[in-house]
Amino acid sequence: MKITFLGTAAAQGIPMPYCDCTTCTNARKFHGQNIRKRCSYFVNDNLLVDMGPDLFAACAIHDVDLINMNYTLITHSHLDHIFVQNLGMRAKGMHQQTNLPQLKLVAPPSVMTLLNAYGSSDKDMKLQRYPVLPFDCLNFPDYLIKSIKAKHIPNVGDAVNYFIDDGNRKVLFASDTAIYEDRVWPYLANHKIDLLIIECTKGLKQDSSNVHLNIIDLQFMIEKMLTIHAITENTIIYATHFSHQNCPPHEELSEILKKIGVNCA
Ligand SMILES: [Zn+2]
Ligand SMILES: [Zn+2]
Ligand SMILES: [Zn+2]
Repeated sequence: MKITFLGTAAAQGIPMPYCDCTTCTNARKFHGQNIRKRCSYFVNDNLLVDMGPDLFAACAIHDVDLINMNYTLITHSHLDHIFVQNLGMRAKGMHQQTNLPQLKLVAPPSVMTLLNAYGSSDKDMKLQRYPVLPFDCLNFPDYLIKSIKAKHIPNVGDAVNYFIDDGNRKVLFASDTAIYEDRVWPYLANHKIDLLIIECTKGLKQDSSNVHLNIIDLQFMIEKMLTIHAITENTIIYATHFSHQNCPPHEELSEILKKIGVNCA
C-alpha cells in the first residue's frame, strides 16, 4: 500500500493568512514541511481520502495526477474535507481525458447534500454514489472499506472515519474525531491495523474537546487500540490534521510526537 500525504492541516491551513502566531510566522519564514495544506490522502494512486480546497495545488507540488482515481472517500462535510468544486472539475469540457474512469464516491449523507446543492449531474462528473452511515461495510473489487463512527460535528452526526483493507495492508484514517464513543471499539477489535493515520488537531492544548484530539487524547486512543488489538506494537502511526493555534512548527512537533512513538505527517 502506497500513501501520499497531500495535506496535513486542519481547516485553517498553515500558515493561516490572517494569523501571525508563532507557527504561522515560522511557516512563512522557513517554508518546507512547516507549510501544511488542508487534508487529503492518496492511496495506491487510485483512492483518495478527503479532498479539501488545496487539492489541486497539492497535486501540482507532489507530482500527482488523479486520472486513474476511481475511489474517493469523504469523512464528513466540513470544508477542509470536501470542496465540491474538485468533483465539478471532472465534468466534460473541463479536461481532455476522454476515458476518465467512473468514480465511486463514498460519503455520508451530509456530503451528498452538498453535492446536490452544487448542481452538476453525476453522469457529467462520472460519479457513482455510495452513501454511507457509521458502521457500514463496502466490499469493492480493490478494497474492503468500513466506516467507523467519528465523534465530530454533533449537529449533523454522520461524520465517519475509514478502515481500508487493500488485501495487502490495513489502514485506519481516524480524522476528524474526538475520542471514540464506547460503542465504536468492538468494531475495531482484533483488526491488527498496519498503519494508523490519526488526527492531532489540538496538539499541545491541555483541555480535551469533544470534536478533536490533543496529544493526551491521541495517547489514550493508541493505548485503547493496543488493548483491543485494533493495532499492534508493529503498527506504524502518523499524526495529521494539525491546527496552527495548538501545534508548534514541524520540527518541534515531530520531536514531541517521536517521544510517544508517533510520526509527524
Ligand atoms: Zn478537518
Ligand atoms: Zn497562526
Ligand atoms: Zn471537521
